[in-house]
Amino acid sequence: MHVPLLPGVQAQKGSTTTEMTLGVMGGGQLGRMFVHAAQRMGFFTAVLDPDAQSPAGRVSHHHVPSGYTDANGLQQLALACSAITTEFENVPAEALAQLALSRTVSPPAHAVAIAQDRAQEKAHFVRCGVACAPYAVIETAEQLASVADHLLPGILKTARMGYDGKGQKRVTTRAELFAAWEQLQQAPCVLEKMLPLQLECSVIVARGADGACVHLPVQRNLHRDGILAVTEVYDGAVPEPLARRAIAAALSIAEGLQYVGVLCVEFFLLHAEAAKSQGLPDLVVNEMAPRPHNSGHYSMDACDVSQFELQVRTLAQLPLTQPRLHSPAVMLNLLGDIWPDGGVPAWDKVLALPGTHLHLYGKAKAAKGRKMGHLTVTGSSVDAVRATAAQAARILGLPDDFAGI
Ligand code: ATP
Ligand code: MG
Repeated sequence: MHVPLLPGVQAQKGSTTTEMTLGVMGGGQLGRMFVHAAQRMGFFTAVLDPDAQSPAGRVSHHHVPSGYTDANGLQQLALACSAITTEFENVPAEALAQLALSRTVSPPAHAVAIAQDRAQEKAHFVRCGVACAPYAVIETAEQLASVADHLLPGILKTARMGYDGKGQKRVTTRAELFAAWEQLQQAPCVLEKMLPLQLECSVIVARGADGACVHLPVQRNLHRDGILAVTEVYDGAVPEPLARRAIAAALSIAEGLQYVGVLCVEFFLLHAEAAKSQGLPDLVVNEMAPRPHNSGHYSMDACDVSQFELQVRTLAQLPLTQPRLHSPAVMLNLLGDIWPDGGVPAWDKVLALPGTHLHLYGKAKAAKGRKMGHLTVTGSSVDAVRATAAQAARILGLPDDFAGI
């Protein structure tokens, strides 16, 4: 008899595979890990990315090598797929809306559009009753001139297209603020008050089309030069009451968007005394990403359901179960900076350490600041995992000062 393997997924006669194809807009490493997760569950995959050598395109069954707004390319993707997601937030929201006319698309275009714009994103946080950094929207010279004193020192961030700390200027005085806006070509920006950070953390939420929500444990993140460097996840990495509040805030942000898919919400935990003296709350939301996130990569090795499997499940309308962390984890990001000229880092020495999981994204060229891969360390205790991660960091020439952040 012809038996459906999964709800909505028909088995091909005489085949062990299914015939449902899942598509992804964007062919970077997040798309590649989505493709791996989808294929592991028996789905076919299609990737739309203009780059013929994109990390995800190279491992997918189908690759549509077109621009993100190319009507032809979008039509090809829609023809190949039953359901389509995105792996980067700057995918044109109108392309998602276009695809949604004929296919299941998640996350929804309206949620992606909000996440693409820092001003809209902050307005959404405020609507959800979740505190964010005090800020001002700067779109005109008048708005720039009337910025309140208490927002300085601050960080001027372009409202759109920022990532990995790009499009951001730290400013202390008004003169610096004016100069920074010029340097950013007077693009629409938000000025955020510089906050006294104690630590940074993030929460990854998955919400199904039926409204069911699950989340990964709270991740503690260390950034260097505006780029995520280390993620640590284990009980107590973030003080328990704050972790609970961060999870509740992330869930309400997803709920408020009627979100479907995987959403990452980043938070700042502030130094309690400094926050109090400045009249600030101790936990504030930073930003959200409408997709799996670098800080959730550890879940592939340390959780029974990874963030990419959650993305597959939400897209294919499969049930969501609460992921369980089965090992403490430390993830080190591997940027192109550690690639020696004409060679590769000492993977043999790193992989000789227990509980190391190496993920490389298949990028041909290493460049400074380019995300080439990550290393997750798992083990039987927090101390063991941290000690091994510190050893791996030393082998790779990375700072090993993350333990105890
Ligand atoms: P990504 O998309 O890679 O997460 P981004 O370019 O969107 O990064 P943000 O998350 O806004 O940038 O900021 C990058 C880092 O800069 C933060 O993780 C934090 O370390 C620091 N930072 C940002 N805003 C503030 C602030 N208001 N006060 C203090 N530090 C901040
Ligand atoms: Mg960020």
